[in-house]
Amino acid sequence: MHARRPTRQIVIGDSRVGLIRIGGGLPDKHGNPTTPAPVSVQTMTAGYTHDIDACIREINKLAAGTVGGGADIVRVAVPEKKDTEALKEILPQVNIPIVADVHFHFQRALEAVEAGVHKIRLNPGNIQDRKQVIDVIQACKSANGGKGIPIRIGVNEGSIIERRDKQKRMKELGQVFSDHKHGYMLAIMIAKLEEYLDIFYEQDFHDIAISAKSMDASLVIDAYTAIGERFNHPLHLGVTHAGPKETGCIRSAAALGAMLASGIGDTIRISYANDPIYEVEDGLELLYSMGLRERKGADLIACPTCGRIQVDLFTLVQDVRKQLAEKITVPMKVAVMGCIVNGPGEAEGADVAVFAGDRRGIIYVQGEKVANVSEPEILDRLLAECLNFQGRVLRGEAKLGEKKVDIIPPDPIGELGSGYEKIAAGQVEKRASLTIGKS
Ligand code: SF4
Repeated sequence: MHARRPTRQIVIGDSRVGLIRIGGGLPDKHGNPTTPAPVSVQTMTAGYTHDIDACIREINKLAAGTVGGGADIVRVAVPEKKDTEALKEILPQVNIPIVADVHFHFQRALEAVEAGVHKIRLNPGNIQDRKQVIDVIQACKSANGGKGIPIRIGVNEGSIIERRDKQKRMKELGQVFSDHKHGYMLAIMIAKLEEYLDIFYEQDFHDIAISAKSMDASLVIDAYTAIGERFNHPLHLGVTHAGPKETGCIRSAAALGAMLASGIGDTIRISYANDPIYEVEDGLELLYSMGLRERKGADLIACPTCGRIQVDLFTLVQDVRKQLAEKITVPMKVAVMGCIVNGPGEAEGADVAVFAGDRRGIIYVQGEKVANVSEPEILDRLLAECLNFQGRVLRGEAKLGEKKVDIIPPDPIGELGSGYEKIAAGQVEKRASLTIGKS
């Protein structure tokens, strides 16, 4: 993992909903030092903004998330005046910074600022008149009692190719679909970004985040890397049109994981054709997995299973995940392992672990065996042990990660090497492999 790329810092929110900082490491406009803020997670409502009650419900749901955490920032689309009108009623009823997503109609941006929104997302390429962009910049500059609100500038793949001027469009597309797709696309992205930033800098406006999304993960990596080398604004990472959750999570993790590991990225949005709550869950999990955010809730690890499995582990893991997400608030590590062969090694460091075998589950809490239960009892007993351990942690009677799982595999493995060939050949009684404990 590389150190975070130092950037200017922008601040979103107000005293009522709280302040979310994005980026940091470079001095602020007063010359005061800043430190990089934790990478934040954003998402966008899927419903209509003008459907006020439903929009408020959706924002609150995304902000609450699960015990694993919720969104830090929520964006809403404001395509029509009735949407910016609705913002006036929505904003006082939610407790999270809200971003207004503006395309084409600069007037919507002005109305959203007037309504008190905390940030504007703008693709200047979608607004033809430079004067209109300047009007939006000036409105954002004087918003929030003169403190200003930030703007995200998007040079996303879908909005930078010329669409109105057909001749220009064909010329640009011709370049894009040449043999040097990334080269041309990157050149267009950087050129457009410079062009847009000039407008903002001319207005002495620097509260800017930049995004350069594409559905092509490799282009996303190249684009953000190139932009990160040239500009010092915080970067909003995302793979756009990533598709359904099942494949979109891989596409997003590939691009965002690579960039975050190289120190690039200050706020993220995972995009799925699905309920946006999954965008929040998976965005947080990505950051937790990379050690970029302090985990809230349980960290579940589980084996992939193999031919040694002797319980329905897939169902068990899903049930455990659901229960932990609802009930465990401390970042304990929980392991669900299919057998005692590799389980102990793979579960090392788990606070609570279950090792399955022969339709039973043997449960350990910080290395101490506490139960040996039948398969139908595993879920309830494991959860009870997790809750009990959580109580001890909260009362200060136990510490997370204090004692490691330290279980020596059973005799057939230790004495007979692979063991399973012997079991398969009938030379060792299979049940012997289920005797668990320190020898
Ligand atoms: S823990 Fe056991 S069942 Fe699970 S993958 Fe490893 S060897 Fe297979």
